[in-house]
Amino acid sequence: MSTLEIRDLHVSVLDAADDRPEILRGVDLTVAAGQTHAIMGPNGSGKSTLAYAIAGHPKYLVTQGSITLDGQDVLAMSVDARARAGLFLAMQYPVEVPGVSVSNFLRTAVTAVRGEAPKLRLFLKEMNEAMAALSIDPAFAQRNLNEGFSGGEKKRHEILQLELLAPKIAVLDETDSGLDIDALKVVSEGINRYRAQPGHGVLLITHYTRILRYVTPDFVPVLARGRIVKSGGRELALQLEAEGYGPVLQEAGYDVDETDGFSGAATGEEAAPAAAPAGR
Ligand code: ADP
Ligand code: MG
Repeated sequence: MSTLEIRDLHVSVLDAADDRPEILRGVDLTVAAGQTHAIMGPNGSGKSTLAYAIAGHPKYLVTQGSITLDGQDVLAMSVDARARAGLFLAMQYPVEVPGVSVSNFLRTAVTAVRGEAPKLRLFLKEMNEAMAALSIDPAFAQRNLNEGFSGGEKKRHEILQLELLAPKIAVLDETDSGLDIDALKVVSEGINRYRAQPGHGVLLITHYTRILRYVTPDFVPVLARGRIVKSGGRELALQLEAEGYGPVLQEAGYDVDETDGFSGAATGEEAAPAAAPAGR
């Protein structure tokens, strides 16, 4: 059984002004295989920073604390070693790579993670089956990686990677953003298929509770200003859905200010059919 352990994690970001503000200020979190954790928090609380630190993004500097996977020091690993060790990180804003097709990318990623290249014919069969399960048009495989992907295509592509790479622990950052209700269901089913297999754990990062109706979390830690201010089970997500972040933040001793993104419900109105395209 795999376990991702995050202890007293402090992370600073290299920003454009070359300052190094501390964004995460002592995060503790343990994600074991078989568990689904849904990290929630207001915008700007440090959720993506946590994902980037786990991924090894060079702009996110771990200044204190540790991240281990089954006792191995993740922070000492290169980005691709992290993937080989069984970590999967789906980013909120994936990079466009012209000239590399989805199919090529996926085969390269599968080769890197499995340690040997799958036979082309078998790989294509596997990929096509996984695409069909996610209602992805077969032509998608020939598209340039992430280029002009719609919100829904990006997220389906993430789950496609999840199915093919079968990591031990999947970190999914805002996997629900920009999805209409049908896409949300398809993506949620993909996550549920993945986590139903033994040995798989999920760290789902989300601002909104909407996806948690389809992917039921076991644990709901709430991140605010770089710290986990409250942890609960599924009922905490329901409470956030009903009340927004305000009460939890106040309880943690924070001033709740309309202007700093600390207000607002966690319900995901952005996704209502009549609403404008999703924000984040
Ligand atoms: P969340 O994902 O919870 O919305 P983020 O982790 O993206 O929050 O951001 C947390 C804080 O760190 C914000 O104040 C944000 O402006 C800052 N931050 C994150 N990444 C960068 C960056 N690359 N450059 C400058 N500031 C950053
Ligand atoms: Mg984010």
